[in-house]
Amino acid sequence: MRDAEGRSPDTRSAAELTAEVSRLKAEKGALVLAHNYQITEVQLAADELGDSLKLARAAAGTGARLIVLCGVRFMAESAKILNPDRKVVIPSDTAGCPMADMITVDELRAFKSEHRGAPVVCYVNTSAAVKAESDVCCTSSNAVEVVEAIDAERVLFVPDRNLAAYVQSKTGKDVIPWRGYCYVHDQFTLEDVALARAEHPGVPLVVHPECRPEVVAAADFAASTDGMVKLAARHDEMVVGTEVGLVDMLNRLDPSKRFHPLSAFAVCRNMKRTTLPLLVRALAEERHEVVVPPDVMSGARRALERMLELSAGATGGTGAGGGAPVRGRDAA
Ligand code: SF4
Repeated sequence: MRDAEGRSPDTRSAAELTAEVSRLKAEKGALVLAHNYQITEVQLAADELGDSLKLARAAAGTGARLIVLCGVRFMAESAKILNPDRKVVIPSDTAGCPMADMITVDELRAFKSEHRGAPVVCYVNTSAAVKAESDVCCTSSNAVEVVEAIDAERVLFVPDRNLAAYVQSKTGKDVIPWRGYCYVHDQFTLEDVALARAEHPGVPLVVHPECRPEVVAAADFAASTDGMVKLAARHDEMVVGTEVGLVDMLNRLDPSKRFHPLSAFAVCRNMKRTTLPLLVRALAEERHEVVVPPDVMSGARRALERMLELSAGATGGTGAGGGAPVRGRDAA
């Protein structure tokens, strides 16, 4: 069967495709970045693996001519904004983030008018145009540090209502949320937590701060995906409340340990659109190129660079980056 472009499927094995990725990377002077939620074959073919903050930093510091971002569109846009002179491509041009689509520029402008004077912190899971309308970006690794560093007691936080609630609980500031959410993390419930506690008694439970507040409160730790990787280094067994790709990755990195998904249904369909054949095609044909309109480029870049400045030392810090204890328990 042919694909939507009338092409025959690539029937090469995973090993052959991975070898082709290596050959093309060398030939093109390319850097392949992959998010922690990508499928295993894509993760194994990447030069750098990480959460949004780690990928943004890797993109900002590269000398590569071509950057291939295996993730969703806002991540590829961020790489382009931080590297306007380099070519950035995304293997699947339909890999968007539903949460990023939950706020438009017009909606953000109306939100700002309702709360005049309050600075806007925007999660990186937003379009370039929304970033350009914001004062500073953040990721789940550094959201607490970024909001703490802002010289204001009242901030607007878009688009994730759950991360906003988490930041408010950690900073004590008045964090006014937009109504967006991640369909993968918002689906976890207290029932999932109770089931996991019953199935794995005594095993620490970590969740992503995109989960609902009651789920975060019932967990032992809240952490970004890179924070979860750090926590996993300190625990032999853990229940992990995030997208299952990260849980697969933890089990692969240390097969002597045991990491259980809080729910096997936590799958981001958008992140799974990137496949090895699409990665090979992205490298070979340098497509799909990510273009950010010039009128939003400088504003979005200012917001992203401000985040990188404010969070320069944040990854092991007190927020979700290093795995923050939910109750007064030591994360180590
Ligand atoms: S896991 Fe959630 S926030 Fe991340 S890309 Fe998927 S929908 Fe967007």
